[in-house]
Amino acid sequence: MEKGKLSVVATPIGNLDDITLRAINTLKDVDFIICEDTRVTNILLKRYEIKKELFFVNAQNESRIIPSIISRIENGCSAALVSDAGTPCISDPGTRLINLAIKNEIEVIGIPGANAAILALSISGLPVDSFLFEGFIPQKKGRQKKLKELSQESKCIVFYESVYRIKKLLEELNEYIPERIIIVFRELTKKFEESWRGTAKQLLETLDKKIIKGEFVVIIAPQNWKENF
Ligand code: SAM
Repeated sequence: MEKGKLSVVATPIGNLDDITLRAINTLKDVDFIICEDTRVTNILLKRYEIKKELFFVNAQNESRIIPSIISRIENGCSAALVSDAGTPCISDPGTRLINLAIKNEIEVIGIPGANAAILALSISGLPVDSFLFEGFIPQKKGRQKKLKELSQESKCIVFYESVYRIKKLLEELNEYIPERIIIVFRELTKKFEESWRGTAKQLLETLDKKIIKGEFVVIIAPQNWKENF
């Protein structure tokens, strides 16, 4: 029997229109979908009138579920891997499944699409031909060490940060790199999308006047880069 394939499908990061035709067709064509949270994926599937068997995989169940997913694909079923938002495996689950698929000589196909970091970089106005993607830095242990290490980095740096730690991150950046320009993007592609730029101190002053909600991408401009309007 011919093996099935595993398609790794990028989904929107907020605006449900941000999905490619190929992604929709793939989700329609596969036998089943592997996701992070069935409630989140079902919102997308409902919007595009796709009815499919869903399996959720998380850190708790992955060692039990992944082998059965691999065996279904080996037996001829085709599958799609999605995450709650954006590109799977970019600060999201999926790596173990893909690794095991490759080990079992299952064809892995990427269906490209939205990614919060790349979108933020592309509209930052910064020279971003070369950058460092850090994703989420440690929440507690190792956080200060990581920030100290990053303060020596001259390239543009991109972080993901949650609403709970965005102010803390800016306070820390104010200590380590008070002179660098930082851009904070909030709720990209969504109704209340906005961004702020300035030094960490200026951004803290701006955020102090706001009720902070949503999802954030933080970009630190390259060392010695100055706004030049
Ligand atoms: N896989 C996703 C991607 O391709 O961008 C990232 C998933 S990661 C678990 C979620 C983090 O990405 C959020 O905490 C936030 O830092 C960032 N993010 C995702 N969507 C965003 C959005 N619409 N606006 C700003 N940041 C976003």
